[in-house]
Amino acid sequence: ADMLNVCAVEVSADGTAARVLAFTPGLDDALFEHDGQITKREVRALTLSALAPKRGELLWDVGGGSGSIGIEWMLADSSLRAIAIEGHTERGARMRRNARNFGVPGLVVVEGTAPGALEGLVAPDAIFIGGGGSEAGVMEAVLAGLKPGGRLVANAVTTEMEAVLLAHHARLGGSLIRIDIARASPVGQMTGWRPAMPVTQWSWVK
Ligand code: SAH
Repeated sequence: ADMLNVCAVEVSADGTAARVLAFTPGLDDALFEHDGQITKREVRALTLSALAPKRGELLWDVGGGSGSIGIEWMLADSSLRAIAIEGHTERGARMRRNARNFGVPGLVVVEGTAPGALEGLVAPDAIFIGGGGSEAGVMEAVLAGLKPGGRLVANAVTTEMEAVLLAHHARLGGSLIRIDIARASPVGQMTGWRPAMPVTQWSWVK
């Protein structure tokens, strides 16, 4: 299993089958164990593109959920490190299983809520905020914790979090994009576009 792991091959829970993973981020959601709280494939690909990992860098994945962002960050290169912060205990355990199954057991999972759980962590080169960004003190803590020259990428699905991101963009600049994805699915005998909830993404360099 260790040999398979270094080649980024996913090993099934019972160890009997293995799936070869593509090199590029935006892996199928179904490859991750999740409870519905996961950054969807297309949005994840755009998020990893914005996070833009470089050799040896450290990521904080705030509101790690299933761990999909931290895992795809680490899959990009064996020199990359990531710390995922997750307030929900069950999700923390699930994230550790995903990290192991994807061959990146080095993903550090911090069980606790931001901003408190961020205290004392090594300053990162990049931060992703997938949850908790609209809670008191979280944006302040990530802005302060990021290394100078580091990259911050934050996604909003709720209007509350979007308001936070619009205010930060107005004050600090950076770039804002809105991601609207629709998927073709059956409408009776025909096919129609089912829109996913739009995601607002703010990217900024400190
Ligand atoms: N990017 C994740 C999905 C994130 S969903 C993935 O791809 O799987 C948002 C997550 O943020 C949830 O798991 C929620 O428990 C977590 N969360 C919300 N507020 C938080 C906080 N203050 N600190 C840590 N985690 C938080």
